Amino acid sequence: MSLPPCPQCASEYTYEDGGQYICPECAHEWNETESAAPAVEVLDANGAALQNGDTVILIKDLKVKGSSMVIKQGTKVKGIRLQEGDHNIGCKIDGSAMNLKSEFVKKA
Ligand SMILES: [Zn+2]
Repeated sequence: MSLPPCPQCASEYTYEDGGQYICPECAHEWNETESAAPAVEVLDANGAALQNGDTVILIKDLKVKGSSMVIKQGTKVKGIRLQEGDHNIGCKIDGSAMNLKSEFVKKA
């Protein structure tokens, strides 16, 4: 098992000590449960894994539940947040909080 990179400075020279991970470069210490790995695996339309903060592009027009608004195919969505459930991407589009299904987006 390889150790995760430091979440603070991305150093790869991290080591483990008594259940804690330690970064020798910036002295950051954290434990396994707060490691950078996403809690949920979210795949886009092409099967590529998405990460928190990614930018995605809609691959089809999506109707917004409870309104007449349609988000157009090709809309770029920045800074997505992965979450559990049917609509596994949280994001903001035009300032409004939205939940999307990852099968309707692809990584930008
Ligand atoms: Zn570090």
